[in-house]
Amino acid sequence: MLESSSPAGPSPTPMFRQYHALKRDHPGAILLFRMGDFYEMFFEDAQEASRLLDLTLTARGKGTDNVAPMCGFPHHQLDAYTAKLVTRGRRVAVCEQTEDPRKAKGLVRREVVRIVTPGTVLDPGQLDPKDNAWIAGVAVAGGVLGAAFLDASTGDFLAWQAPQDMDGWEALCDRLAAFAPREIVFPEGFPWSEDFRAARAGEALLTECEPFGFTPASAGERLGRQFGVLSLDGFGLRERPAAVAAAGGLLGYAQDTQRSALQHVEQVVTHEPSRALLLDPATRRNLEIERSLRHGGVEGSLFAAMDETVTAPGGRLLRRWLLAPLTEPADIAARHDAVEELLAGERVRPAMREALRAVHDVERLSARAVAGTAHPRDLAALRASLRALPDLAASLGACRGALLRETVAGLDPLEDLAAVLERGLADDPPAGAREGGVIRDGFHEELDQLRVLRGDGRATIAGIEGRERADTGIASLKVRYNKVFGYYIEVSKPNLHLVPDRFRRKQTIAGGERYVTDELQDYQDKVLHAQERIEALEYELFQTLRGEVAARAARVKRTARAIAQLDVLASYAETAARHGYRRPRVDGGTALRLRGARHPVVERTLPARAFVPNDTALDAQGKAIAILTGPNMGGKSTYLRQVALLTLLAQAGSFVPAEEAVVGVADRIFCRVGASDSLAEGQSTFMVEMTETANILHHATARSLVLLDEIGRGTSTFDGLSIAWAVVEHLHGRPGGAPRTLFATHYHELTELAVQLQGVANCRMAVRERGDQVVFLHRVEDGAADRSYGIHVARLAGVPAAVVARAGEILLNLERDEFGGDGLPRRARKRGQAQKGQYALFPAEAQDADAAEVLAELRAADPARLTPLEALTLLDAWRRRLRGDA
Ligand code: ATP
Repeated sequence: MLESSSPAGPSPTPMFRQYHALKRDHPGAILLFRMGDFYEMFFEDAQEASRLLDLTLTARGKGTDNVAPMCGFPHHQLDAYTAKLVTRGRRVAVCEQTEDPRKAKGLVRREVVRIVTPGTVLDPGQLDPKDNAWIAGVAVAGGVLGAAFLDASTGDFLAWQAPQDMDGWEALCDRLAAFAPREIVFPEGFPWSEDFRAARAGEALLTECEPFGFTPASAGERLGRQFGVLSLDGFGLRERPAAVAAAGGLLGYAQDTQRSALQHVEQVVTHEPSRALLLDPATRRNLEIERSLRHGGVEGSLFAAMDETVTAPGGRLLRRWLLAPLTEPADIAARHDAVEELLAGERVRPAMREALRAVHDVERLSARAVAGTAHPRDLAALRASLRALPDLAASLGACRGALLRETVAGLDPLEDLAAVLERGLADDPPAGAREGGVIRDGFHEELDQLRVLRGDGRATIAGIEGRERADTGIASLKVRYNKVFGYYIEVSKPNLHLVPDRFRRKQTIAGGERYVTDELQDYQDKVLHAQERIEALEYELFQTLRGEVAARAARVKRTARAIAQLDVLASYAETAARHGYRRPRVDGGTALRLRGARHPVVERTLPARAFVPNDTALDAQGKAIAILTGPNMGGKSTYLRQVALLTLLAQAGSFVPAEEAVVGVADRIFCRVGASDSLAEGQSTFMVEMTETANILHHATARSLVLLDEIGRGTSTFDGLSIAWAVVEHLHGRPGGAPRTLFATHYHELTELAVQLQGVANCRMAVRERGDQVVFLHRVEDGAADRSYGIHVARLAGVPAAVVARAGEILLNLERDEFGGDGLPRRARKRGQAQKGQYALFPAEAQDADAAEVLAELRAADPARLTPLEALTLLDAWRRRLRGDA
């Protein structure tokens, strides 16, 4: 054998020369080198992989100098070990023996058949069925930034571009955060700074590529070839060179790593986030759309609460709809019409969902067929899915709504593919393509004949046993099979004297002897030959079937899109039916009116009907800003998020948990949660809070919805209050109108803004006090709260009674001081004074209720109608009230 074990010494063996050549062609990848039934790694790869995969490090070669460190694993564990390497951020090049070793003249030919990277994984074990797995590509062309996003496991493909200025970079960061790609590919020389690179890449693997593929010309040509078009205008890419460059470059990278044309990527869609309701990364996090803040998992998220989809493509689409709600009232109404029809159709919905349940992840199944990694059971799953399509279409036959009809029309039943799979694929094929039994009888003539031959041979061999027993008189004679000798006759020791001469001895065993005969040998050759040929032929035919699927991958993809859409609409209807959601009205107005609204997630964590519904009335043309005060634990955060989530759901096309909802379409939702929730670990929380606040102040428009939950909490009281005050003023004074805003705060001073500014209103969480007991009613009512009940909550939380009592005492002292009393502990007074000195945005008097009243009276007073004496008396009264002598 030529594959001798001498490694890369002065004269490496042919096998190692082959290894090094492959390694050179795939820099930066761990090379899995197929040797017989194993994948082996050598040198640094072996050292690294033995650590990462916990494999024993051995060596190949003799002596001390020419020894190559080596480790490996059996071939059937390829997926599991690749997964481990890729999740640790490594690239893996899979090298196979691409000719039959028995037929190879000399060294067996080997090639890298696939490169697996975090962004190009197709193995179902590594993918979340209800989430896309994006890889991003970025490029610059003509002073414009481009980005593209591809999910190679489903064929989803989007392209985007923006000017290469500060806003453009910011938008690019936002897009990267929104898609959260596993990998970002970029051309060498892409102009991002190291900081940007580090900050924006997040968890993603950064892969630098040859720049040529990312030029608009070569990228455009590649896309044209992929979609079989001469011009990309039809994809909305006319005069979008940067989007084209990013998309073409990215597609090239994906094709190269998969070693496949990726036929299932059948279109690229221009990604226009500005046409969707925009949610910045902080808002997506704070609204817990995809995952909960507390656990970081999907449980407790809006997605989990809304997910009644029954297919994986449906689950992925629901997630995308929730993350990119619509802004066009007509498009939104079309979804609502569909949901309404499915909700009313008591028979349609169950039938449709029943049919959908039989549908597997056809998108990813066909992507695996394209990549050549689909197994027989994948094709069986696809066949089962196709069988369900006629029922699905039939269940919706009587639907009238435009969106439903249009979607059903897009449901290609793929009858031709179904027919091929029905004819070719066995009913219950095995997992492995080489295990036999994959192809159905009657599909291929030669295969049928070989199977008869094999069957006959086996029957004949079975017959030989009976005949030889009769001929020799050895009743215990047996015909057996093993891999080494094939078929043989076994005779036990006591009967050896009866063995005829025509039996040729093959092996002696403890209990007797093993023999062959000419006849047995003859049939054995036939059977084994037939078996071998059957295996090869079945594999070939299976590959043909897989090719039939791959050839129709683009059609499968389109059908999958229709399936996903039907599934999400049915899921909306199902949620509405189960939890009593109502159809919202979304229009081009500026109002936001909710009656009897509930938080879609919190209400499910409470016993039935325990959640207290609330109303909301904001209008950019009227009361645009509401200052919400109330006790800790009173439900402020829940209320704020509820308003945001209902707006989001309504615009995503869903029904909403409310008696009635009128939503003037919002262009953006901003949800900022104060530093008290300490979300951003590792950074100054106050800095994060202010960065997010700045983002809101720069971008909120009169169409936006702004939810501010205790901003300004991360600094001293006076700084925080001042910032909060100025933020409200700024939003209020925004040229073009104030965004609809809910501002939850413990700074009761802010309630004064309602007196000062038109369009600002106060509301509070209702509380009932019984003795020293406080009951949170969770009901929002008009007016300002006068206390926070923080000490009460501290008691509920189990803070020792002595501390609670002392806190009560100090609070009393502080309050007296604020209102002019004398009981202030000296240190507290000093601190108060220092803070006042530190930042004198407000007159000190403005901090108490008396001062507010005095100011109001002052404003209302008309000197022209006062006598000098009246004026003097008033002046004296005010002075005394401000000094607290009243
Ligand atoms: P803090 O000021 O301490 O942050 P908060 O006023 O923001 O408190 P939330 O966190 O919104 O209070 O709510 C506290 C708890 O009250 C929630 O976990 C929930 O169980 C309950 N709750 C909130 N709103 C309602 C409601 N409308 N009906 C019933 N229970 C509610």
